[in-house]
Amino acid sequence: MDCLFCKIIAGEIPSNKIYEDEKILCFKDIAPQADVHALVIPKEHICCANAVTKENSAAVAYIFEKIPEITKSMGITDYRIINNCGEGAGQTVKHLHFHILSGSNLNEKLV
Ligand code: 5GP
Ligand code: ZN
Repeated sequence: MDCLFCKIIAGEIPSNKIYEDEKILCFKDIAPQADVHALVIPKEHICCANAVTKENSAAVAYIFEKIPEITKSMGITDYRIINNCGEGAGQTVKHLHFHILSGSNLNEKLV
C-alpha cells in the first residue's frame, strides 16, 4: 500500500519515535508547528476519521488511553489534539493521525 505512515510503521521511512507498542506509534512531526508537535497513529491502516467503525474503533480508544502516558513522558500536561479529516480540512496523509501540539505558540486558537 502506498501509504507514507504505513511505511514509517514498517521502518521503510525513518521517524523520530516517541512511543511505540504493538498497536500504535507516536513520532515527531517532520515540520513542527508548535514547540512540541507529535503525531499518534494506529498501526492498523485507517484512512481517516470517516473510516472509523465499530470494528476498528478500539484502536482509536487505545490511542486516547495512551495519550496521557505519552504526553507525560514528553513532559507536557497542557496540549491540543487535532485530527484533520479529508483534504478540505487539511488532511494530507491518508492514514488516521492525531496531532499533539504543545508549547507557548498555541495562542491563535482555532477552537
Ligand atoms: P495532516 O496535514 O494530514 O493533518 O498531517 C500530516 C502531517 O504529517 C503534517 O503535519 C506533516 O508535517 C507530517 N509529515 C508529512 N510527512 C512526514 C514524514 O515523512 N515524517 C514525519 N515525521 N512527519 C511527516
Ligand atoms: Zn497507512
